[in-house]
Amino acid sequence: MKDEHVPNPNLTWALQSYVMDSGRLLLVELDDQGRIGTANLAFRSRFAGFSRVHGKPLACFLRHESGDHLGIEPGLAYRTPVAHVLKGVLGGEAYLFHAYPIDQGTLLIGELANVVESDIVERMGHLAMEMSRLVRDLRKTNHKLALANELNQSLARTDPLTELANRRYFMERLNTSIAHALARDHRLSLLMIDLDHFKRVNDRFGHAGGDAMLVAFARLLKSQVRAADLPGRFGGEEFVLYMLDADLRAATEAAERLRTQLAGLRLLDADFCVTASVGVTELSAGETAETLLIRADDLLYRAKTEGRNRVIAEACGT
Ligand code: GH3
Ligand code: MG
Ligand code: MG
Repeated sequence: MKDEHVPNPNLTWALQSYVMDSGRLLLVELDDQGRIGTANLAFRSRFAGFSRVHGKPLACFLRHESGDHLGIEPGLAYRTPVAHVLKGVLGGEAYLFHAYPIDQGTLLIGELANVVESDIVERMGHLAMEMSRLVRDLRKTNHKLALANELNQSLARTDPLTELANRRYFMERLNTSIAHALARDHRLSLLMIDLDHFKRVNDRFGHAGGDAMLVAFARLLKSQVRAADLPGRFGGEEFVLYMLDADLRAATEAAERLRTQLAGLRLLDADFCVTASVGVTELSAGETAETLLIRADDLLYRAKTEGRNRVIAEACGT
């Protein structure tokens, strides 16, 4: 027999008549309050002396083996039906019922139980339910753990004020990017940026004003970079940015854009501008992150000594 989702109507009819008319199989439909909708002749003859049972609680006729509460669990829809061993309220004989979920209720199909077998079937039904609950809970917990892990990782990499990469994460990524760039003969340039006379910002606008300025500059930095570039906060009012596939000229242009935009920003007061000095350099063959950073830092120092609010760019050995 083929197992298909759309049952053959003749087959459905045959099965239904067999089950309904069988003297052995008991069939009861319950609403979600546990009241009987329909019941077949076998059920009515066995428990109700052939009289009507419609609307009566199932508990008038059957009780649970373990106690008086008749909690019938139909099982999860489209999953294993749940087995229940029930006893006649008057008789005391045990019946093995399987509960199937149907629209707004439960369908119970049962027969006289062989006690040992019924016990096993019932336990298996409960185990199946328990397993599916455990699997569902486990999935939820795993999902929550993955989210928490992701959050932890991103917190460990991020500077809390500006939400840029922190120094440690920036260095980690710079080292990897340098190794890739050298292996594939790609260009990589680095900007080292320090905000000028930042102490004055704090003196005039307080620490909160200074913080707001740092956040605004970080936003400006983020708005300028491409996906392959990484900006970071190196510490205090010092920022770094590496750019992949950018030669010295492209990196210098980016630095100039940043410098001009910052100088044009009037965040704290209409007559107060904050400027930045920038050292720009490009990676050359055989270099490490350390030598690259030292060169950028020297160039930044030169920008400071030559009057600040300027970009000084130089490649290695020029
Ligand atoms: P220069 O042009 O030579 O760089 O002068 P400067 O005043 O910017 O440099 P200096 O290194 O002497 O001082 C940096 C100032 O930046 C001092 C410090 O209070 C301020 N600063 C560092 N980190 C933060 C921060 O997270 N928030 C605020 N508001 N200020 C900070
Ligand atoms: Mg400074
Ligand atoms: Mg500084």
